[in-house]
Amino acid sequence: MEKKLVDVVDVSVSYDGQSGATKAIENINMQINKSDFVVLLGPSGCGKTTLLNVLSGFIKLSEGAVYIKGNLITGPGKERGVVFQQTNLFPWLNIEQNIRFGPDLQKKVDISKSYDHYINIIGLKDYQKHYPFELSGGMQQRVAIARTMINNPELILMDEPFGALDAINRNLLQDFLRSLWADEKFTVFMITHDIDEALTLGNRVLVMSKSPGTIIQEFNVDFYLKILNDDEYIASLDPEFVKTRKAILNLLQI
Ligand code: ADP
Ligand code: MG
Repeated sequence: MEKKLVDVVDVSVSYDGQSGATKAIENINMQINKSDFVVLLGPSGCGKTTLLNVLSGFIKLSEGAVYIKGNLITGPGKERGVVFQQTNLFPWLNIEQNIRFGPDLQKKVDISKSYDHYINIIGLKDYQKHYPFELSGGMQQRVAIARTMINNPELILMDEPFGALDAINRNLLQDFLRSLWADEKFTVFMITHDIDEALTLGNRVLVMSKSPGTIIQEFNVDFYLKILNDDEYIASLDPEFVKTRKAILNLLQI
């Protein structure tokens, strides 16, 4: 079975502005395998969102090409789902209607089973008839994740999904996403500027240079496994974690 899901080949993107073109990302080469949890770290403005938009098909490339399962990407597609920092839930629909929105739109016959599955997974069964404004930020972000996952995308793209949450809720959501990924093994490409978040969620952490961003190093890590398998484990006390964290910090300061 083909393991490679995404292939990014020599991709550069420039934006046209009044004072000429600005190169946002440069010479990006990257592969994502099925069931990878890839986290992209980089300084503000280095081009992380640009790269995510390249994968989602929202923007045009200046150079290079992106393939999903060997097919050239030319625009957005339903095999890719995006979770943003702003949840973009529809305020006039209740939680159940928000989650069912995608499948309803495509008139899929019976999604009741997967709806039940996801509303239980996110722990919001008791809130399914509530409206988004009645939920906390963390709850809303869980709804946004369920709403994306119910479409069964092959690739889930997340742009700083927990960036707007307070520290406690961010930790809860990280725990939630880590366990969910361990259970369901979907494929994720996630952006964050939080090194600890990157190192405790992903199996691969990619570090981007300052603008115009290019990928300067990759770390293959398994701290998520230690967290999942050992209740007593504290990543920040693990010498290997501290070492990796330092190495990334050094790269980000170049
Ligand atoms: P990040 O997500 O890492 O903060 P972005 O991808 O948003 O970075 O932006 C990378 C660079 O491209 C920045 O210099 C930003 O100002 C510029 N940029 C982003 N989007 C646009 C746009 N639509 N038009 C012009 N310039 C843009
Ligand atoms: Mg961004």
